[in-house]
Amino acid sequence: MKKYVLFLFSLLTLLCIVTGCGGEKKAEGPKVLKVGTEVTFPPFEFREKGSKEISGFDMDLIRAVGKKLDMQVEILDMDFEALIPAVKRGNLNLVIAGMTITPDRQKIVDMSEPYYESGLSLVVRKENTSLQKPEDLKGRAVAVQLGTTGEEKAKQLAGDKVRSFKTNEEVFQALKEKAVDAIILDKPVAQYYINKHHPDAVIVGDTFAKESYGIVTRRHGELTPKINKALAELKQSGEYDKIYEKWFGKEPAKK
Ligand code: GLN
Repeated sequence: MKKYVLFLFSLLTLLCIVTGCGGEKKAEGPKVLKVGTEVTFPPFEFREKGSKEISGFDMDLIRAVGKKLDMQVEILDMDFEALIPAVKRGNLNLVIAGMTITPDRQKIVDMSEPYYESGLSLVVRKENTSLQKPEDLKGRAVAVQLGTTGEEKAKQLAGDKVRSFKTNEEVFQALKEKAVDAIILDKPVAQYYINKHHPDAVIVGDTFAKESYGIVTRRHGELTPKINKALAELKQSGEYDKIYEKWFGKEPAKK
């Protein structure tokens, strides 16, 4: 009898080891981080010609953040103005879209520590010498992207002649077709479009309205401190600088 009990006990122990005893569950695979962006904002987020993949500085940065959080990154392209509402509703875990940290946005969502220093610029057709500074825009037709800080600034400067488009491609097209006299757009993005696709356009004057980009998460959500920690670690380890150099060259990193 004693032997029998001992045998049963050993068998149970063995079973326990093999099945894990129903205690700790098998480790789950990495969770998915649903990331929203808008792809007409090169070199931060864009599709290279003929490629389906979304590349850019923001994309490399968020993939590195995803690795730090041990989460798989899924990138979704949406209209810029739909991004914040989607985070609010919980359809997206975060947004990285060259989005400027503003007090108004911070009332609705959390924004991370700054990860890039930017600013707005004024773009005109090369032959147009009458527009030299933001103040010259009064009453002029200005193209901007819907829902952006550029749109807000243009409305302050130009009044009701501002024309808002969903994509920055349409914004540049409007300038080319002379439907508008100027564009207000983030400087690095304006520079990219001019260099690559619109040699007839030019940036005039200095950058105005200095802005910092931040990653958007749900207000008071548990993700915000994690993102900030990951960003700090990437800056510390030199990974941030590597990504920066890949997209902007050796100029000093604008963290
Ligand atoms: N930085 C600007 C903003 O936050 C534009 C961003 C964008 O068009 N992707 O409004």
